[in-house]
Amino acid sequence: MLRNITLLIMLVMIISGCGENAMESKFRTFVAEHVAKLEPLMKQWNLSYWQASLTGKKEDFDKAAEFELKIRTIYSDTDDFAFLKQLKESDQIQNALLKRHLELLYNAYLSNQIEPDLLKQIVEKSNAVQNKFNTFRGKIGDQELTENEIKEILKKETDSSKRRDAWLASKQVGKAVVDDLIELVKLRNQAAQKLGFENFYIMSLSLSEQNLEDITKIFDELANLTEEPFTALKAELDSILANKYGIGVAGIMPWHYHDPFFQAGPLVYEVNLDRYFKDQDIKELAQKFYAGIDLPVDDILMRSDLYEKKGKNPHAYCINIDRLQDVRILANIHNDERWMETMLHELGHAVYDKNIDVSLPFLFREPAHSFTTEAIAMFFGRLSRNANWLQAMLALNDEEKDEIDDAVQNSLRLGQLVFARWSQVMFRFEQELYKNPDQNLNTLWWDLVEKYQLIKRPKGRTEPDWAAKIHFTLAPVYYHNYMLGELLASQLHAYIFKRILKLDSDNSLSYVNEKIVGNYLKNRVFSVGTKFPWNEMIKRATGEYLSPEYFVDQFVRQ
Ligand SMILES: [Zn+2]
Repeated sequence: MLRNITLLIMLVMIISGCGENAMESKFRTFVAEHVAKLEPLMKQWNLSYWQASLTGKKEDFDKAAEFELKIRTIYSDTDDFAFLKQLKESDQIQNALLKRHLELLYNAYLSNQIEPDLLKQIVEKSNAVQNKFNTFRGKIGDQELTENEIKEILKKETDSSKRRDAWLASKQVGKAVVDDLIELVKLRNQAAQKLGFENFYIMSLSLSEQNLEDITKIFDELANLTEEPFTALKAELDSILANKYGIGVAGIMPWHYHDPFFQAGPLVYEVNLDRYFKDQDIKELAQKFYAGIDLPVDDILMRSDLYEKKGKNPHAYCINIDRLQDVRILANIHNDERWMETMLHELGHAVYDKNIDVSLPFLFREPAHSFTTEAIAMFFGRLSRNANWLQAMLALNDEEKDEIDDAVQNSLRLGQLVFARWSQVMFRFEQELYKNPDQNLNTLWWDLVEKYQLIKRPKGRTEPDWAAKIHFTLAPVYYHNYMLGELLASQLHAYIFKRILKLDSDNSLSYVNEKIVGNYLKNRVFSVGTKFPWNEMIKRATGEYLSPEYFVDQFVRQ
């Protein structure tokens, strides 16, 4: 009798769809086997990469590359991909958890389905362009210059013709790489088209769960909201620079800014905060701050490698070794403002990784998107230039605080506005580059630069100046994410001070010892990992989808 009732219940469950269908069971097994292979390899890859960046030894890098290849081999399996494709098309995976697994796995496999021959050509072409970037030196006359030497001239030189020469030297690499780069773009497009996409740009967006329409809407809105304030600020800036160089405003050219692409604000409002950090311990400050907001980092710092040594990677990064809270950062701390910013930034990535719920399935234990973890890193990194934070952390008196407040505000505003306009150029140019690599790209580039950055094209200039930007080669279809990260950092900031801390303004907000802030981020942003697509996560955390409105409130409106 009992047995019959059980059978009956099972039958009802199957008919009413409560149980799992055959495809779902099959897929559940697939996921379990996949993770069983992947998890140990990921850990070994991360450990060997970590080791290599500490020693700088070739054999260590080779070992890391071996593990990377093993992981790639898993994802390039054509039978497995065919299975996932069939599942996707069958629409039989209804269980929400399995459905999300299928989305993530399908994208991860799809990006590794490029035919081996074509992939080899892409890798070789990309390496060839990178090598040219590494070895190329711009010249003034017969004299070769390093990138740093060019930047120094653009920072300090007041003679316009010397500035012009340095700027021209910074663009020469564009001409050296452009033919290979366009071939690389075409190869990437070929790969994307074989996988059923219009071009590589559209494919790359799609594989990271973005689409052109949504992103364009955000960028259009940002362009509208920043146009007037940027025009005013740019005029102010030009008159300061014209004055400095002893020329008329009408004579201001691309080489009069402090950055070859005008992607960062000129140093006109620059305030040097290094003196406040000179006698401080950057590591301790960061540790104390994060403990105060209930996101302790002691365990992270214990496993991290924080100071310079021979052979070690000179930059900074964060790595999640095992998705089980072994999170580490690599840094090369000096007691100055830049490293304060960097430590806050990298530890922002680290607290995100560390606080992803470990009871989630392995494949969900990652940030929602690369730009969402970037947003958290920026959110915290911005504090090294926040006068309230500086006052609270360094016990500055009111006078000292007021002294830095205006200057810091101005320099942040300038930097953010300049970057917001520059990112428009990168976003719009790169999609056109893949849409039609045979169009007149040199003209297109300067059209966009004139429109969004309000920089005058040198008369008759038709060189491939765009190709001098290494990101088109090294990190394709990624640049827009830097801007999205800034937007999300501001959206979270606005939500936190208005809704979580219930403040009327952020004028006196320091974030220091605000435990409620750390807990909000932990519970609403970090813990869910990739359980939801990024915009769904943002809506759950802030009540709305990603919007440029709050970035504009924070940095543009006065
Ligand atoms: Zn970062």
